[in-house]
Amino acid sequence: MNNKKVVIIGSGLGGLSTGVILAKNGYQVTVLEQGIQIGGCLQCFVRRGAKFETGMHFIGSAAPGQVLDQLMHFLEINDKVKLSSLDPTGYDMVSLKGERFKFPMGRQRFIDQMSEYFPDQHDNLVRYCDMVERVANASSIHAFKYAESTAAVDVESQIRSINDVIEEIITDPKLAKVLVSQLPLYGAERDKTPFSTHAFIMDFYNKSAYRIVGGSDCVADALVGVIEKYGGKVLNKQKVSRILCDDTHATGVETVDGNLYEADIVISSAHPQRTVEMLGDTSLIRQSYRRRISAIPQTMGSFTLYIHFKDGKVPYMNYNFYSFKNDTPWYSEVYDETTWPKGYFYMHHCSEEGQKWGKSAVLMSYMKLDDCAKWIGTKVGQRGQDYEEFKARKTEQLLELLENDFPGIRENIEHVYSSTPLTYYDYTGTEGGSMYGIAKDINLGAACRVSHKTRIPNLLLTGQNVNSHGMLGVLVGSIVTCSELLTSEKIYNQIIESNK
Ligand SMILES: Cc1cc2nc3c(=O)[nH]c(=O)nc-3n(C[C@H](O)[C@H](O)[C@H](O)COP(=O)(O)OP(=O)(O)OC[C@H]3O[C@@H](n4cnc5c(N)ncnc54)[C@H](O)[C@@H]3O)c2cc1C
Repeated sequence: MNNKKVVIIGSGLGGLSTGVILAKNGYQVTVLEQGIQIGGCLQCFVRRGAKFETGMHFIGSAAPGQVLDQLMHFLEINDKVKLSSLDPTGYDMVSLKGERFKFPMGRQRFIDQMSEYFPDQHDNLVRYCDMVERVANASSIHAFKYAESTAAVDVESQIRSINDVIEEIITDPKLAKVLVSQLPLYGAERDKTPFSTHAFIMDFYNKSAYRIVGGSDCVADALVGVIEKYGGKVLNKQKVSRILCDDTHATGVETVDGNLYEADIVISSAHPQRTVEMLGDTSLIRQSYRRRISAIPQTMGSFTLYIHFKDGKVPYMNYNFYSFKNDTPWYSEVYDETTWPKGYFYMHHCSEEGQKWGKSAVLMSYMKLDDCAKWIGTKVGQRGQDYEEFKARKTEQLLELLENDFPGIRENIEHVYSSTPLTYYDYTGTEGGSMYGIAKDINLGAACRVSHKTRIPNLLLTGQNVNSHGMLGVLVGSIVTCSELLTSEKIYNQIIESNK
């Protein structure tokens, strides 16, 4: 026990996993969450008996011995989080203007399936897979061997865009589009998003893909249990309004209700923009840092439908579905009143292993917070009739698309609810209501990267804006942040030890 007090702001995956690692290593951890529910993007909600996930829906690389499985053992949540494999012959299905393509798990199965669609591209597909694997493996961060910095990630793949790399390798333009059609998973934009982002996600899911049985809140509950087991606390309804500092260091935090928490170390998993606001006007942080943080672009937000099916009517869909109205997934984020929605992605909720019927599903389509600008500042549930009408109109447009892809499905829907980027903004504080936090842009380079360290020696950052979003991206980020206090070698050895 080193008795150092750590206060962590935010109880999403980043805050909780950072809390687990430090609590296991003798720190006195207190996690403060502004919301009523713990979990951030791991939150679920139940309405009229149907359960819905609001953020994380499926995870990869979690088969025994794979990287996420090893991390779940290290975090001591492996026996609490039950996983259900998606269809290995097609965990994802994409539809480009009605033409469908399956994404199977495993390198060889993937090459064989894609070569069936595009026979003359077999050799290029092999080169593409080699490239994806090279990038994923070159990153010491993803292999969590040293967990020191993102510098080890193959540099070329960080400065070249996804389309630049893929269109050089793949000579069939249609296949080049198919290969990026899961881009809503990482909010990719043409000529901006680095190839490395694509490679990590593709490698992550290609190795294995699972839904979390019972919903992603099981992950949050399990992490809270481990923090408490090691003597830590996770407190809800504790919105931090200020990070308190003396002349050189952070000394603790204050909540909107005036509660004070002293700390030797403060770690924020809130969006960096929110963290900067919590720092007030302290001179410990430079103006140039504040300006840079506020100038970083965000990934897209989403308009989300939560669909409750009638009992025993819709077969459980053991794969995820991505639909694009046009023959390209690119530029889905560029739309106006007449062209929205350009597509959607759609996933069933897994409530039990081997389930026969779909009980609930989510359907997401890109949306900017700007579309909801006139309701910013209003409260959840009290935004007014015009907001409800806006949501009803958008819901109708998306259900029409769904019906097009799955004829007859509408008559099997019992209830449907919706949320906008404003909902995410209000619930998690993520800038712009964005899905995955800050956007990586090759044109901005390091200017759009957020380090886990700040100029305040005992103020660290964690969560999806450090390293990367998603289950693996956030956990690797937590390891990077904790290495600052524990050393990466120590964490690495603990991971190995916990998997013996
Ligand atoms: C719609 C959607 C779908 C997704 N699907 C997947 C998926 O299928 N697979 C996958 O791996 N990933 C997915 N992700 C990404 C993944 O869920 C996130 O990257 C990850 O959960 C983010 O964790 P975090 O801790 O960084 O942030 P968050 O979950 O946003 O947590 C931050 C927490 O900080 C709290 N907070 C903020 N300000 C304060 C304050 N002042 N005081 C106290 N608390 C504060 C917030 O309330 C929140 O709980 C999805 C995300 C979204 C939004």
